[in-house]
Amino acid sequence: MALKIWLDTGLVDEKEARISVFDHGLLYGDGVFEGIRVYRGKVFELEAHIRRLFESARALRLTIPMTKETLTDAVETTVRANNVGDGYIRLIVTRGVGTLGLNPFTCEKGNVIIIADTIQLYPQELYEKGMKVISATTVRNHPLALPPQVKSLNYLNNILAKIEALDNDVPEAIMYNHEGYVAEATGDNVFLVKNSVVYAPPVEAGSLEGITRAVVMRLARREGLDIVEKNLTRYDLYVCDELFLTGTAAEVIGVVQIDGRVIGDGTVGPITRLLREKFFRYAHGKEQA
Ligand code: PMP
Repeated sequence: MALKIWLDTGLVDEKEARISVFDHGLLYGDGVFEGIRVYRGKVFELEAHIRRLFESARALRLTIPMTKETLTDAVETTVRANNVGDGYIRLIVTRGVGTLGLNPFTCEKGNVIIIADTIQLYPQELYEKGMKVISATTVRNHPLALPPQVKSLNYLNNILAKIEALDNDVPEAIMYNHEGYVAEATGDNVFLVKNSVVYAPPVEAGSLEGITRAVVMRLARREGLDIVEKNLTRYDLYVCDELFLTGTAAEVIGVVQIDGRVIGDGTVGPITRLLREKFFRYAHGKEQA
């Protein structure tokens, strides 16, 4: 079925949803976006996503041509117009149409695009058996070059690492920063468990401030688990008891091998399973966080 897409000020048919070749989102990756889940018709953590989008835009001096409230309404309208029960929203704000030069201020107005569609999840088997990953040789962007908190339209750093993963027949790669500390996976945040304590790299190490990450941290604390944010090395990943990733699309997924080395006993560990279960319940309105 053809989708209704939000473009700029209202809904249009999928085939009418087109943007200019002079949009700086296309010419330079100049823009910001969010990936958001819908569970049983309810948009997940919408306020947090809208906040992060506005902060990303602010950091880039990109003016979003809507208020937080009108943008929130536009997201809800798009979800309803497409009858999305369980799905995924892509919310994009490009810099807009300008001249061929870099100068963002030639762009008169940002373009807002909202797509609400179904989602391609990892196969269920991967959640049960756990995922294999590799360490990427591509170093995560220096946080002082491009703040990792900015969810920009330029994902080339992560795409280069994703290519390494796919070349090695695994779905994900762990990225390290310029100092060798764990930053994040190409589209997910990283956690490990050692002696029943949950560890996560600080965002300053070079990761997006994941919304799933924040929810999982709250759920873990509610379960009485200790969470420590500290710099982690490849060694820490090699010797941990459990490793898992979090993200809007992946939710919580266990990792059982890295660089061909088995993690823990090679199965998805108990704390990962617990947090995945708690996350599922929270997303479906059956649990507080
Ligand atoms: N890191 C990167 C680079 C991402 O693109 C994402 C989102 N796919 C995440 C982490 C996870 O963030 P969130 O939980 O907000 O989806």
